[in-house]
Amino acid sequence: MKNSIKTIICLIPALCLCSNFAFATTWKGVQGDVVGVETTYAGDKLELTCFGKNWPLKSVGHGVWRGWIVIDLKKKQGKYNIMLKSAKDSVANDFLKVSKGSFRISHIEVAKKMAVFDKQTLARIRAEVKTLKATYVERVDANPDVKMSGRPFEGIVSTPFGAQRFVNGEPRSPHSGIDIAAPAGTVIETPLAGRVLLVADMYLNGKTVAIGHGNGLVSVYSHMHSTAVTRGDWLETRQKIGEVGATGRATGPHLHWGVRFNNARINPDSLL
Ligand SMILES: [Zn+2]
Repeated sequence: MKNSIKTIICLIPALCLCSNFAFATTWKGVQGDVVGVETTYAGDKLELTCFGKNWPLKSVGHGVWRGWIVIDLKKKQGKYNIMLKSAKDSVANDFLKVSKGSFRISHIEVAKKMAVFDKQTLARIRAEVKTLKATYVERVDANPDVKMSGRPFEGIVSTPFGAQRFVNGEPRSPHSGIDIAAPAGTVIETPLAGRVLLVADMYLNGKTVAIGHGNGLVSVYSHMHSTAVTRGDWLETRQKIGEVGATGRATGPHLHWGVRFNNARINPDSLL
């Protein structure tokens, strides 16, 4: 999915504020994708709305606006409204057609204590999930660009995004990121500048870092051998986050790399 920021050129003419619905264009994307939209509009303030949420939209000069809409991994197939709105009126009402992703099935076998949890462990896992989820909605003021410089390091994808997982034969939630296998100690770099929102040692995720990049874009790195950052640090693109390991529930050294965008789970590769 390397070609994925799907830049779709919407040739809406520069309309006056009172104009409505230039073209009703239907854009397309699959579950877990980032769909890029581009439009022309002469005004200085424009909002992009889809799935009941606002999405980042920025003016790139000469009346051209660029925005991104994210389709959550579990978003139902169908046709949804896209609204481009000025302060006073709608500029365009387009559609986004969401198709089902084709996701692999993944089976792993782990020690029983990593699959069946006692009450105390379950409470710990729930608390850690809650802490991690809080980072998905933490506000970070940063550069509105969402394009990433590459993966955190080069490696082989051992479990792709969206895989339907079975742990010791039991179905689990779909894989919300990609797993990249590499020798322990491989340096993990942030693909995009951002603020460190979380550094934690979690029961299932192991040593984990979450980074906020602004615009509701948050990336998460798990199962690390060691972390090299502190909450609150500002990291420049390609700065070291930590090293690959197999902490938490892992069958071998790898990085679990997850990305949330406006709290939707997306394929990290779709931002490359
Ligand atoms: Zn994973």
